Amino acid sequence: MNAAVLAVPFHIVAKDKISPSCYTYKSMSQHFIDREYIENLLEGAKQADHAIASQALDKAERFEGLNHREIASLLVSDKPEHLDRIFTIAGEIKRRIYGNRIVMFAPLYVSDYCVNRCAYCSFNHDHDFSRRKLSMDEVQEEVKILEKMGHKRLALEAGEHDGECPIDYVLDCIKAIYDMRFENGEIRRVNVNIAATTTENYRRLKAAGIGTYILFQETYHEPTYDRVHHAGPKRDFAWHLTAFDRAQDAGIDDVGAGVLFGLADPYFEVMGLLIHNEHLEKKYGVGFHTISVPRLCPATGMDIADFPNLVDDATFAKIIALIRIAVPYTGLILSTRENHGMRKKLLRLGISQLSAGSSTEVGGYAKHRRNEAAQPQFLVNDDRSALSIIAELMDDGYVPSFCTACYRSGRTGDRFMSLAKSGRIGNVCLPNALMTLCEFSMDYGDDAFREKAFALIDREIPNIADGGIRQRTAANVKEIRSGGGRDFFV
Ligand code: SAM
Ligand code: SF4
Repeated sequence: MNAAVLAVPFHIVAKDKISPSCYTYKSMSQHFIDREYIENLLEGAKQADHAIASQALDKAERFEGLNHREIASLLVSDKPEHLDRIFTIAGEIKRRIYGNRIVMFAPLYVSDYCVNRCAYCSFNHDHDFSRRKLSMDEVQEEVKILEKMGHKRLALEAGEHDGECPIDYVLDCIKAIYDMRFENGEIRRVNVNIAATTTENYRRLKAAGIGTYILFQETYHEPTYDRVHHAGPKRDFAWHLTAFDRAQDAGIDDVGAGVLFGLADPYFEVMGLLIHNEHLEKKYGVGFHTISVPRLCPATGMDIADFPNLVDDATFAKIIALIRIAVPYTGLILSTRENHGMRKKLLRLGISQLSAGSSTEVGGYAKHRRNEAAQPQFLVNDDRSALSIIAELMDDGYVPSFCTACYRSGRTGDRFMSLAKSGRIGNVCLPNALMTLCEFSMDYGDDAFREKAFALIDREIPNIADGGIRQRTAANVKEIRSGGGRDFFV
C-alpha cells in the first residue's frame, strides 16, 4: 500500500479496543467518524500509485468485499480502465450473488409532524402547511391500497414529533398493519424509518416485529451535518450516528443505512458509510443489512440550487458500483427519487431492492385515488404504477420478488449474512422469488401479465441448484397456479 495512505493515523483500530461500555455517545462518534482522517485518506489516495487501485480491483474480483481504504483508492481514480473494471465487477457481483431478483417494496408515510429543521426536507418544522397523521382507520385505508398493488413489504415513514407521533403511535400503526388480513394474504414485513431514538424504544420496535430499522445518516460530514440541521433533536450528530448501536443493543440486528447524496462530498460520504459499517461489524459481528442511496430531490420550502454538492449521474453510478463492490452481501435500495432511465441503469450495477408505485405523502395513496392535489415530502421521479414497473422488470429479464421469508424464518443479522456469504442463500432466494411472483401474478396480474410471468418462472426453475428445493418449488408453483395454495417459502 502507498506510504501516503498508510501514514494516515487509523484511530478506529486503536480506540475500538476500549470497551464499548466506557464510551459516551459523543466520544464514540469521534472514534468512528474522524473527519480529518477521511479527508487525509482521500487526499492520500489521490497521490497514490495506480497499482493500488488495480490491486483493490483484483481483490474485488474474488467477491471478498473491500475495506474503506481500498475503496478510497478506487473512488479517486479517474483512469477509464479502472472505471470500466469497477462497472464490470459490480455487475458480476450483482449477477452472481443476487441473480436477476429484485425485491419490491413501498413507503407508507404515517405522520408529517416534525420538530426538526432539516434544510432539505419539506416536513421541516418551520414550514407552514397543514400537517397530519393518519388515524388507524386511515393507516388501514392506505395499506388496503398498497396491498391492491401487490405489496407485501412496506417501509413505514414518519417525521420526528414526540407529542404527535410518539413511539406508542408508531407501534399502533405497526400493529394495525400486521393485524390486517386480505383475500390475498397480508403485509408480511414492516420496515421502519423513523428518527433516532432510545434503546428502550428500539426494544419496543423489536417486540412489535419490525423488519429492518432504517435510518439515513444524511451526511457523515459533521460540519455539513451541523449546517443543514438547524434545530431539533436530529441536530445532534452523535445521537443520530449511534442510533444503530442502540438498535443493536436492543436486539434489532437488521439495520438499514443511507446517505442523502447531495449534501456533502459524495466520496466522503462513501467513506463514512463504509467506516460505519466496519464499526458495526466489529462491535456486533454484523454490518448494515441494507444501504439506501437517496439523492436530494426538489421539495417544497427548499431550493435545490442552495445545495452545492449535488451528485451528477456518472458519479452516482460509480458510487453505487463501488458500494456494491465494497459490501457484496448488503442489499442496495433504490427509491422513486431516481427516474426510470437511472433506475434501469443502476439495477445492473448492484441495486437489489426497488420501491414501486410510491407516494411520499401522508395519506398519499388514498389522495391519489381521489385525485386530490399532492403535498409530498419530496417529488418522486418515477411515478409509473407498481404493475407497470413490475411488468417492465420482467421484460428486462428480472424476477420481481415479494419475498419476506428470511425475516419470517428468523434469518436476520449474522444468520442472514453467514448464509449469504456461504452462497447458499441462492437456494432460498430464487425459489422464494419465483413462488411470490407466481402468487402476485395470480392475485394482481391480468392475462398478459400472467403469461409473461409464468414463462419467466418456468425458465427460472431449472436454475435452482438444489434438486430437492427445485422440485418443491415446481410443485408449489403448480399449486399456486391452480389456486390451491399460497404463501410458500423456504
Ligand atoms: N424523519 C426521519 C428521519 O429524518 O430520519 C425519518 C425519515 S424521513 C421521512 C425519510 C428520509 O427522506 C430522510 O432521512 C431524508 O434522507 C429523506 N429526504 C428528506 N428530504 C428529501 C429530499 N428533498 N430529497 C430526497 N430525500 C429527502
Ligand atoms: Fe423531519 Fe425527517 Fe424531514 Fe428532518 S428529514 S424534517 S427529521 S421528516
